[in-house]
Amino acid sequence: MNQITADHSLIIRDLKPSEGYERLIEAQDAQTGLHALVSIHSLRRGPAAGGCRMFNYAKAEDAIYDVERLSRGMTYKNAAAELPLGGGKSVIIGDPKTQKTPALMRAFGAFIEHLAGDYYTAEDVGVSPQDMAHIAEKTAYVAGLEGGEFASGDPSPVTARGVFLCLRQTLKHGLGSDDLTDKKVAIQGLGHVGMSLAEMLHRAGAKLIVSDINAETVRTAEARLGASVTAPDAILHQDVDIFAPCAMGGALTADAIALLKARFVVGAANNQLADDSCGQRLQDAGILYAPDYIVNGGGIVNVAMEILKIDDPSYRESRIAGLATTLEQVFQRADETGEPPHLVANRLIERRLQ
Ligand code: NAD
Repeated sequence: MNQITADHSLIIRDLKPSEGYERLIEAQDAQTGLHALVSIHSLRRGPAAGGCRMFNYAKAEDAIYDVERLSRGMTYKNAAAELPLGGGKSVIIGDPKTQKTPALMRAFGAFIEHLAGDYYTAEDVGVSPQDMAHIAEKTAYVAGLEGGEFASGDPSPVTARGVFLCLRQTLKHGLGSDDLTDKKVAIQGLGHVGMSLAEMLHRAGAKLIVSDINAETVRTAEARLGASVTAPDAILHQDVDIFAPCAMGGALTADAIALLKARFVVGAANNQLADDSCGQRLQDAGILYAPDYIVNGGGIVNVAMEILKIDDPSYRESRIAGLATTLEQVFQRADETGEPPHLVANRLIERRLQ
């Protein structure tokens, strides 16, 4: 049913979600040009939580496909981190460079408020902490703020810590020791998470080979961490122990896997497998893959502290340590069944959702 809110020309309506999803809601606002969608995949473990992405989708169907895929991913990520949160995501259709205004963000905030706490939003691609502050003028159901009580700020260092722990766990499982001294790690992407991970690995004695399309960040890693630098298209075939994808999703294509020399893949990027068959390919190549949504759950743990209004750091620490515990459960089960870890992980999480 269409509903027009009081303080905007905001029209909100429920659309038919795909099978297996709880809700799909669309908002349009003539005054600010807002066109946004919220997908709620699951409320089974608690209110849905997941970021807001602003992107210039060519057509509404593309935005729906993306928001639903991402929302389902958040259900799995939140359950993997053992958070009392369900899965949801939102997208704003438009170019964040030219179409984003404070008024548009406030209208989006009014949309989120209308959902009455079934969905909490935070930053994703194209959306900044400053945008969150505008959204927060209209709703309490927002996290990733830089100031105020329980504000969690940039989640990247916490994400990197979770990746680091999972990387050690993967080594321990594969080699019987998590000692990183002189282990060679190739890091693809030295952004917020990648650089923080590189620093931790350097302190632990690992040898780093890094690549980024931004020349300045690789120079920093070279100077500060003694990292070897390689071109972005050469990072896959480095002779290393571990490959850590920390740039964009979809890095593990069939072609990419054929080039890999690493024995382990553990990284921060979302949706690393180009498709499910690539998980099997990694297994066939004798490469142990740590499923991305377990490994990179530190960020949502950080955001959850703000949503759940928890200021006890031990909650964060226990959830981050839990990522490595869950990962080990996945590896052990994969060893028992002979299945690739990404499939075992999905089943384990689906059991948590029941
Ligand atoms: P970011 O934008 O800060 O960093 C990404 C880096 O990758 C940039 O430095 C960019 O120049 C580089 N890059 C892009 N394409 C590349 C290529 N082809 N080869 C090499 N480098 C390339 O992003 P981030 O916050 O560090 O996140 C990294 C990944 O981790 C993303 O996939 C993100 O979705 C995921 N992730 C991040 C968090 C978080 O807390 N920030 C949490 C969970 C998952």
